Amino acid sequence: MRFAIFADVHSNLHALTAVLEDAAAQGATHHVCLGDIVGYNAFPCECVDLIRALDCPVVQGNHDEQASMEITQEGLSPLAEQSLEWTRGRLDEERAAWLRGLRLQRLVRDFTIVHATLDTPQKWGYITTQLDASASFSYQHTGLCFFGHTHVPTVFLRDGSVRAMPFEEIPVHRSQRYLINPGSVGQPRDADWRASYCLYDPAESRIVLRRVPYDVHAAQDAILSAGLPEKLAVRLSLGR
Ligand code: ZN
Repeated sequence: MRFAIFADVHSNLHALTAVLEDAAAQGATHHVCLGDIVGYNAFPCECVDLIRALDCPVVQGNHDEQASMEITQEGLSPLAEQSLEWTRGRLDEERAAWLRGLRLQRLVRDFTIVHATLDTPQKWGYITTQLDASASFSYQHTGLCFFGHTHVPTVFLRDGSVRAMPFEEIPVHRSQRYLINPGSVGQPRDADWRASYCLYDPAESRIVLRRVPYDVHAAQDAILSAGLPEKLAVRLSLGR
């Protein structure tokens, strides 16, 4: 059993396809999606369909929530808002209802998944500091929790105190607690444009971060031909 765990696809079909191909080549047997399937990029319906076809655990992200409502209810950036309006125009009611019905957090085998934080998942806060991580850890009842939302690969470890760890390959010790963000498939923001996800193998007790090159120019062209803001295309190749 080997899980491919990914977040923040954001309608980037080129990146999602590349990640799924890489996961298959790496021997992944199961998939887990940490939310924000839609928003920002040009292929919302295709990404929803591809992820539904995986028949895997999925939690709801803030873009999934907002794109499946009639109007935006959260204060989002103008760029996010423009892409959400565009996305709403593409999603039919059946796909929107599926996104609306996603749960905020789930237990998968022996780990928890959530898009934003475990302390207040519906408020869409960000886990970027040790303080944020501590608040989420106090609601974490499994050794591992995978989250998304920041678009930056991150690991926090709690073993007495809470600290951040570098994330390439980490061994999992049963006596400790981990909060793990596999980065973003469709819009990385850590100055690396390559799609990001992680592999978790419970038998080997290790988690490996993967970075996957994809056809970023095709994704950018699709953004421009869709009439989405040019900034959304530019940021993809900068990874921010
Ligand atoms: Zn996101």
